[in-house]
Amino acid sequence: TPIEAMTAAMAEPELAKLRSQLIQWGQEYYQDDAPTVEDHVYDASYDRLVKLEAKFPELVTADSPSQQVGGRQTKQGLAKVQHPEAMLSLGDVFSVAELTEWSERTEKNAGTELTYNVELKIDGLAIALDYEAGKLVQASTRGDGLIGEDVTANVQYIKAIPKQLNEPLTIEVRGEVYMPKKAFAKLNEQREAEGLATFANPRNAAAGSLRQLDPKVTKERELSAFIYYTAQPAVLGATTQAESLERFAAIGLPTNPTNVVVADVTGFTTFIDQYTGTRDALAYGIDGVVVKVNDLNTQNELGNTVKVPKWAIAYKFPPEEATTVIRNIEWTV
Ligand code: NAD
Repeated sequence: TPIEAMTAAMAEPELAKLRSQLIQWGQEYYQDDAPTVEDHVYDASYDRLVKLEAKFPELVTADSPSQQVGGRQTKQGLAKVQHPEAMLSLGDVFSVAELTEWSERTEKNAGTELTYNVELKIDGLAIALDYEAGKLVQASTRGDGLIGEDVTANVQYIKAIPKQLNEPLTIEVRGEVYMPKKAFAKLNEQREAEGLATFANPRNAAAGSLRQLDPKVTKERELSAFIYYTAQPAVLGATTQAESLERFAAIGLPTNPTNVVVADVTGFTTFIDQYTGTRDALAYGIDGVVVKVNDLNTQNELGNTVKVPKWAIAYKFPPEEATTVIRNIEWTV
């Protein structure tokens, strides 16, 4: 039934069903690193949930996946780390039209025209790195956004992550740990030969390889990283997202070099078209493009919801093969 035709009485049971389905898929994906459905299947259900909740805000429950970041529990055995500032998710859109609507809304909220830093959305898992006087002292996963898992020992084996910065800065930076496509193919071949379960995709392989109680397992897996965020840009002297990326690179952190600053929808479209065509040739997986308000003061003014920043949005690529049929969801049939 289309959203417009839904009544609250119809929405309530459907929302309950969507919630429990999404919570189960979330558990498989975030906790177990072993999803049973493809991302676009999850995304379609999540999108329906968000649209129904927007129409019937009185039906939003505290346990709804729209109200929380990522998985609920951290992996048993890994120490817990409290994030000084919440690690958030990203809102998503699935078309340029929706992206344009988002930027119009954002410019209205900001009360001014904006420029945007456009980046690739790396298909890995989020990481926070704490440096003290230039030395890496702690690494943690996002977890539920407030409490993550301590993976400091595991990160020692990721060559791309410097253990010492070029400058003696005390700063927390965040980015994405990923498994290059070649390493993923090799790992799955190996696992198949050994009769072990293979990983569904490079994202889950990266998460499964980083979130290991025995860091020696991480050592055997090839992981890499790109850094794209800090909550303390003043430490770097950066006032825009593009400047932050430049400074990250200058202090020795790995950054993805493809970002561009654009002012409008033509800029978004050019970038999206370019990488829709060439993503297969990249050495790492991407599942979309992230558009971020470039000016960091404006980011602060725009703020966050409980789950996502209001100053950024993810445009998700359409699924590569549309072969997966959503069988168990009533509203698609
Ligand atoms: P997300 O992965 O869609 O987006 C947020 C994340 O993007 C950030 O936390 C960050 O780690 C990452 N990111 C990558 N490149 C970035 C960049 N340049 N700048 C900023 N962030 C960047 O959101 P999520 O909350 O991690 O997970 C939701 C998504 O996970 C869903 O859309 C779905 O695709 C997938 N999922 C799938 C299943 C399943 O069963 N298949 C279950 C749960 C979630």
